[in-house]
Amino acid sequence: MAQDRVYNFSAGPSMLPLQVLERAGAEITNYQGSGMSVMEMSHRSKVFDQIFQDTQAKFRKLMGVPEGYKVLFLQGGASSQFSMVPLNLMGRTGKADYAVTGNFSNIAYKEAKKYGEINLAASSEDRNHTYIPAQDQLKLDPGASYFYYCSNNTIYGTEWQYVPDTGDVPIVCDMSSDIMSRPVDVSKYSIIFAGAQKNLAPAGLTIVVIKEELAGQELPYTPLMMNYQTMIKKDSMYNTPPCWCIYMLGLVLDWLEEQGGVEGMEKIKHGKAQLLYDVLDSSRLFTCAAEVGSRSDMNVTFRSESAELDAKFVAEATAAGFTNLKGHRNVGGMRASIYNAMPVEGVEKLADFIRAFDKNN
Ligand SMILES: *Cc1c(COP(=O)(O)O)cnc(C)c1O
Repeated sequence: MAQDRVYNFSAGPSMLPLQVLERAGAEITNYQGSGMSVMEMSHRSKVFDQIFQDTQAKFRKLMGVPEGYKVLFLQGGASSQFSMVPLNLMGRTGKADYAVTGNFSNIAYKEAKKYGEINLAASSEDRNHTYIPAQDQLKLDPGASYFYYCSNNTIYGTEWQYVPDTGDVPIVCDMSSDIMSRPVDVSKYSIIFAGAQKNLAPAGLTIVVIKEELAGQELPYTPLMMNYQTMIKKDSMYNTPPCWCIYMLGLVLDWLEEQGGVEGMEKIKHGKAQLLYDVLDSSRLFTCAAEVGSRSDMNVTFRSESAELDAKFVAEATAAGFTNLKGHRNVGGMRASIYNAMPVEGVEKLADFIRAFDKNN
C-alpha cells in the first residue's frame, strides 16, 4: 500500500485505482516477458495487438455495446469530438439540435454552428446551469441530423437523470465525466464519446462508440484524421493510437469487473454522492450549487457564505489530505469530483471533515 497518497478530488485528470497503478508499475519495464515496456512497443506488434483486442472486448462487454456499433480508441480529447460530430453527421440534413447545459456543451454548440444550422433545443443558462431541462422543455426538430447533449456537467455539477426521447433523431452524447458509472442502454444512442481521463484511464485516449451505419456521411472537406470512417476501416489504427492509455484502460476495466461492473458502480456511486449532499444540506455554512433533482453523482459543487471562508476550507482540506477541492472559476466555491476510483472511505472522511469545519467556523 502506498501510505503517502492523498484523497484526490480532481475533476480530471483524476485518481486511478491504486491496484491499477501498482500493476502498471510492476509491469512497466518488462510487460509479461516481452522484454520491453508497453510504452516501447510497436502498435502493430503481436503483443500490443493482444492488449488492444482484449481491451476492446472488455470494454464492449462491460459497457454492453451491441452488434452494429464500433468502439474507437482515438486521440484529440473529448474536445476534438465537438468538431468531429458535426463534420461527420451534419451532412444528413444540414441542421442539428443542441442542448446547452454547461461549459462543454456550450463549446460544442458554438463549434457546430460552423457546419450547419443549429437549433438551441434547450439551455439552462438562465439559472447559471444549476439544473437539467425536463423532456417537455426540449424544443426538438424532427428534421435534425442529430440531437446533442452532455450527460454530466463536470463544472456545474449537474447530471441528466433521463435519456431524452428524440423520436427518430439520432442521439449524440458526451459522457466524458460519467461514462461507466452506471449502466447505459447503448442502443438508444448513435454516438457516445468520452475523454478517458475522468473515469477510465490517463489523459490521451478518447473513446467513441458509434453506430456504424452513421459513418460515411461526412462533409467533403472533413480532415482525414477526423473522419470516423477512416478510423472504423482501420480499427483505430490508421496512425499510432494512444497505446499506453489503451493498456491502462484494460487494467481499469479488469478492476471495474471485480467491482461488479457498471451495475456494481451504480450502487456505490449514488451512496457516495448522497453522503456528501446529506452533510452539505444539513450544514449551517454550505449550500449546494445544483438544484435537487439535477444533482450530479460525479461532481458535487458547493460553497460557503463567502469567498474567504471557501479559501479557508480549501486550504485546511488540502492540509488534511483532501486535494483539488477548489471549484471551477465559472462556479466558484468548491467541487468534489468522486469518480469510480474514489473509494467510499475517501468520501466518508471528506464528509466528516465538512461536518467538523461546519461546527468550528
Ligand atoms: C473534461 C471534459 C471535456 C474535455 O475533455 P478533453 O479530453 O480535455 O478535451 C469535455 N466534456 C466533458 C463533459 C468533460 O468533462
